[in-house]
Amino acid sequence: MAFSFDTKHIFVGGKWRAGESGRLIDLINPSTGEVLAQIAKGSALDIDAAVNAAQASLDGEWGEMTALERGRILRKMSDLTLERSKELAKMEALDVGKPFGQALTDAIAMARYFEFYAGACDKIHGSTIPFMNGFTVLTMREPHGVTGHIIPWNYPMQINGRSIGGALAMGNAAVLKPAEEACLTALALGEIASDAGLPAGALNIVPGIGAEAGAALSAHKGVNHISFTGSKAVGALIQKSAGEHVAPVTLELGGKSPQIVFEDADIDAAIPFLVNAGIQNAGQTCSASSRILVQRSIYDKVVKAMSERYEALIVGPALDDLNVGPMISARQKQIVEEFLQLAQADGLEIVARGKMADKLPDGGHYVLPTLFGNVPADHSLAQDEIFGPVQVVIAFEDEADALKIANGTSYGLVAGVWTKDGSRQMRMAKKLHVGQVFINNYGAGGGVELPFGGVKGSGHGREKGFEALYSFSVTKTIAIKHG
Ligand code: NAP
Ligand code: MG
Repeated sequence: MAFSFDTKHIFVGGKWRAGESGRLIDLINPSTGEVLAQIAKGSALDIDAAVNAAQASLDGEWGEMTALERGRILRKMSDLTLERSKELAKMEALDVGKPFGQALTDAIAMARYFEFYAGACDKIHGSTIPFMNGFTVLTMREPHGVTGHIIPWNYPMQINGRSIGGALAMGNAAVLKPAEEACLTALALGEIASDAGLPAGALNIVPGIGAEAGAALSAHKGVNHISFTGSKAVGALIQKSAGEHVAPVTLELGGKSPQIVFEDADIDAAIPFLVNAGIQNAGQTCSASSRILVQRSIYDKVVKAMSERYEALIVGPALDDLNVGPMISARQKQIVEEFLQLAQADGLEIVARGKMADKLPDGGHYVLPTLFGNVPADHSLAQDEIFGPVQVVIAFEDEADALKIANGTSYGLVAGVWTKDGSRQMRMAKKLHVGQVFINNYGAGGGVELPFGGVKGSGHGREKGFEALYSFSVTKTIAIKHG
């Protein structure tokens, strides 16, 4: 069944309507540079209406629902997402430039998040606590109330799935502010929720720019929790703004995630992961593995094998479903090109590059995937998040050296370790200062069930998996004196 929502509308209190100001933003197709659709430029008044609608749903039908009923609705949202996954994938490919196959993976992942959280709704239990004679003490998990969700453009469906799925599972009412550059599948979620029978106001969607609609959401006193996924700089602003009314925040920020390859590793198994984790979604991935640390004795071998893969990478329009699509925007392309210019100015060694497809549309935001070798660990390209299809290879001597380099950035999101030595696997896993460690793999296929989040500049709090349900709820302790 085709979607019928009007892209120019906001979704508030279960109804589609124009934003109060009537202002619109053009959505650009990154593969061509052409205008694809228009969306509403949501304002502080629209956010206020959405927060009020969310609160009304908590005071009404949504707030009355049992965990079982919430789970059944989420399950239906999962089924509808799967049924419409190809349409969602096409929408995402056009809107964010993601190769169709990768967009389809995201749609299926969104369905999987709703499925996981559907099943989890009625499995969060409280406890009883041994206490003084004459007392019974128990705890229960309660929703925060209204949750705000500020989402980036790189994986809209996956992040909406995990964030909205977790929040609704615990009985919160959500207000979603997608990134202005990637709104279509977020709006489609409103239609999926309605069709699944989600009560009006339990999910509200207001597109708009971050500095206006996003800032209004994080500052709104009626918002009881903020889940933010995006850059470190904006995450810091959100924490400050939510702090004004003492609302808790979960910050899922960026990374500079390493994969560390020891000389005893199964190199053939590692190579596809080393490259794919850098170029997937054109490197615009928070958990992109943008640093490859290789033990010096196998450095040449690994670089040669990675180079062969790089040289086979083809860049082109999202619907052609090649290896790498365009950057989301002209601005993002420029950011990546500035890193490439810096690399050139500093004489960094390019060891391999991909190729552009024949006859690319003129206005697309394409960048060639580039692999740099022998990059000093303290160089900007080895320290800063580039958010493009660029990887650096760094040689290391031994385990201590690998750890020092791996932990030596301001981020701490994910790390991969490739070694057959079981003791080393555990030593590395314990000493890496990150939120997720993958041994002899990377990413674990998305891992809907696996708690995810960072340390240091990569943020705090966890989403995904069962643990997210604790972030999306609070403990209430009840002490009963009965004598
Ligand atoms: P961003 O610029 O921080 O934007 C993220 C969201 O915040 C967008 O919806 C944006 O709205 C909004 N925003 C911007 N300024 C705001 C403000 N002053 N107040 C409230 N909201 C505001 O990040 P991005 O460029 O979209 O995404 C890339 C970054 O996200 C990277 O650093 C990446 O690593 C990180 N990321 C992290 C994860 C994770 O799970 N850890 C996942 C994906 C991405 P507009 O865009 O509409 O202005
Ligand atoms: Mg777009």
